Amino acid sequence: MSTQKFQAVRGMNDILPDQSGAWAFLETTLRRWLALYGYSEVRSPVLEPTGLFVRSIGEVTDIVEKEMYTFVDSLNGESLTLRPEATASCVRLAVQHNLLYAGPQRLWYMGPMFRHERPQKGRYRQFHQCGAEALGFAGPDADAELILMTARLWEMLGLKEVSLEINTIGSLECRQQHRRKLVEYFGQHVELLDEDSKRRLHTNPLRILDSKNPALSDLIEGAPRLMDALDDASAEHFESLQALLQAAGLQYRINPRLVRGLDYYNATVFEWVTPLLGAQSTICGGGRYDGLVEQLGGKPTPACGFAMGMERLLAVLQETRTEPLPEPGPDVYVVHQGEAAQQAAFLAADQVRSAGFAAVLHCGGGSFKSQLKRADASRAAYAMILGEDEVRAGQVSLKPLRGQGEQKTVSLAQAIQLLRT
Ligand code: ATP
Ligand code: MG
Repeated sequence: MSTQKFQAVRGMNDILPDQSGAWAFLETTLRRWLALYGYSEVRSPVLEPTGLFVRSIGEVTDIVEKEMYTFVDSLNGESLTLRPEATASCVRLAVQHNLLYAGPQRLWYMGPMFRHERPQKGRYRQFHQCGAEALGFAGPDADAELILMTARLWEMLGLKEVSLEINTIGSLECRQQHRRKLVEYFGQHVELLDEDSKRRLHTNPLRILDSKNPALSDLIEGAPRLMDALDDASAEHFESLQALLQAAGLQYRINPRLVRGLDYYNATVFEWVTPLLGAQSTICGGGRYDGLVEQLGGKPTPACGFAMGMERLLAVLQETRTEPLPEPGPDVYVVHQGEAAQQAAFLAADQVRSAGFAAVLHCGGGSFKSQLKRADASRAAYAMILGEDEVRAGQVSLKPLRGQGEQKTVSLAQAIQLLRT
């Protein structure tokens, strides 16, 4: 028989047992946190019609131009795309199922996203996002609540070394005026632009501001600022947002260059950034997208939301949390020696589980010493020991493996009682 070994697709990670505890901790905390703010979970397919993303994210963006996994469904010729983000999916879902007829909606999702990027730390081809979308809220209180919410999450997680940047990109009208100024400014410096930016100069000059090319940073720094040409309503919205953030005691920096990489945004945009992940500095980004629901066939509906990258969140968490992340093990690991003990251990483990405690039964024999080593490695709180003496006396020994406490030899019922305390 010929054998063949396979590797996961490049840039797509397996999550192994020694990492899944941290993931579960993050997911549990996220669910608890989202419930605190009255958000409801939605789950949408990972595949959507390609047009959904092209329409919403925008034709001239990194995601649509270079990063989407798109293929033709050979059964019917339809173009499908693995979702690169989920705001478009959420809005599609809300419009398709008429959710907004019942009034504004606070929705959240969590799951894998797919982008064909160059894999590096904090940048993968399959990664995970958790996001929230507030549909039907004109703000700025909704914008402020979303931002405050994320700040509180960092506290719940024990996450440090993240800071908040905000900006406003105003209304469609002021972006159009600003666009003319950008074309003029960058047009005078065409020789300094890279290929992407040259191409985008006349199609989507705002995207040049979001360029990650360090060679462009001085040029971008000198570009005309949208902030200086805001209409009154946009300026007022931004002022009120800031007043709310200040009232809540949130520290932030206004970054006039912050535009975000997707076309559907208007008015408020924000990012939480960290110095710990090199160029992959953004762990959470969001903003307002008042035109998207209508653009995707719904009634005009103001909306805002954010998405956070869970791999980046975990990476920062692992570096900045003072307490280690929980690494769950079973409550007891059952070790045994001898034939009679094997059966007793098999039944004891069953009863421990019926009482609601996690029990791992040692399989495969070995000395007590080697079995206890396994028990320790399993991160169990206790070893339950069934040797010949215990079996003869109809008892078990319960040995604490973490912290203090003495080994006790008692009946199984008493041992289960001890687990409860
Ligand atoms: P970046 O500027 O790092 O490319 P982005 O602007 O493309 O990020 P968004 O589309 O705003 O990212 O996605 C929200 C968040 O999802 C990002 O802030 C980041 O934490 C995470 N994220 C985006 N792309 C990736 C990726 N390829 N791998 C891991 N996380 C990612
Ligand atoms: Mg990107």
